[in-house]
Amino acid sequence: MSGGMRLARCEPVMGEAARVVGVEEAEVLGFALRAMADGVAIVERSGRIRFVNRALAEAWGVPVPAILGRLAGDFVRLPGSPASLDTVLAAAVRGSWRGDLGRSGPDSPRGIWEVTFSRIGETDTLVGVFRDCSERQALDQLRADFLSMITHDIKTPLTVILGYTELLTEAESRPADMPPDILAHIRESGEKIHALVSNFLDVSRIEAGRLVLDRRVIDLGGVVTQAVDQLAWSARRKGLALSVESGTLPAVVADESQMERVVGNLVGNAIKYTAAGGAVRVTTGRHNGHVTVAVRDTGRGIPAHELPHLFEKYRRVRDKNRTEGTGLGLFIAKTIVEAHGGQIRVESAPGAGSTFTVLLPA
Ligand code: ADP
Repeated sequence: MSGGMRLARCEPVMGEAARVVGVEEAEVLGFALRAMADGVAIVERSGRIRFVNRALAEAWGVPVPAILGRLAGDFVRLPGSPASLDTVLAAAVRGSWRGDLGRSGPDSPRGIWEVTFSRIGETDTLVGVFRDCSERQALDQLRADFLSMITHDIKTPLTVILGYTELLTEAESRPADMPPDILAHIRESGEKIHALVSNFLDVSRIEAGRLVLDRRVIDLGGVVTQAVDQLAWSARRKGLALSVESGTLPAVVADESQMERVVGNLVGNAIKYTAAGGAVRVTTGRHNGHVTVAVRDTGRGIPAHELPHLFEKYRRVRDKNRTEGTGLGLFIAKTIVEAHGGQIRVESAPGAGSTFTVLLPA
């Protein structure tokens, strides 16, 4: 390496280092700093950058020579705060500073780092170590979004339940003839919360690797009928025609309750995303050594560009009149079906309805 030349660039710090530990060791240290996977910058109190290693230059997307001599504030800033980087450097000179810094710049490039600035000896020069934490940030954001969504989606039906039960339990407000709609609203809201919590529990089970299948020879037709029966009331209430067509099927080895969850999720979605007057048809059959369950609806359908991502965790298709949901149902269904050695497919077009088909080895 051309240690001498680079050393000169970092004067007076490297010079000072050379005086303290000797030229050779200073060169080794310089080499180590440059090779580090974490970002390293040496910055004057004024913010002027004297040294930057390759990892940091790459993360900032700017070549090393274009960084040296510029101000740190041109590249990083305190995220979500109007305070300038000067506050950070002032605090660091008094001892050390630790916190998150985001990328700054006219086209506001991405990136967030957990940074520690420490004063070098008695000098007014600081060394900053930058650790990429974009992934942690993205995950925190996802978790925060998910939490706010799930609390909102639980709060709405819970408000309905509490409102109506309050009406029914207070002697003064209790209607003499209870309108049947009240109980229906309560049941519907309870079912929404139940579906949400079940999906949430399933996902944490999957994530913890605790999805255990209790495989036995099952009557898949019976499982389908059972799952559909449980949703018959919701379909009726929404004004949808829900039907099942199931012929004799070969034996399937599967976990009965998990398969009921899969069919329940698919039929539940078909009901949720189909407007009044529509139809949901569930059929079972055979295809190339597989037993199939197809759930067909006449609902809103799904745009082609969304289809490849539909089974991803938290994935939801944006719509104007926000339908409640977590984006977990299809992810769970796919995980369960694939754990059985099967497949799940979708065919859909906006306005033309959707067909979700489960294929299980016969
Ligand atoms: P959720 O319904 O809770 O949002 P899912 O994972 O079950 O989550 O579904 C993911 C997304 O796929 C839904 O948000 C919806 O946009 C779309 N989707 C699923 N099933 C259907 C269907 N039968 N018709 C139209 N869109 C659907």
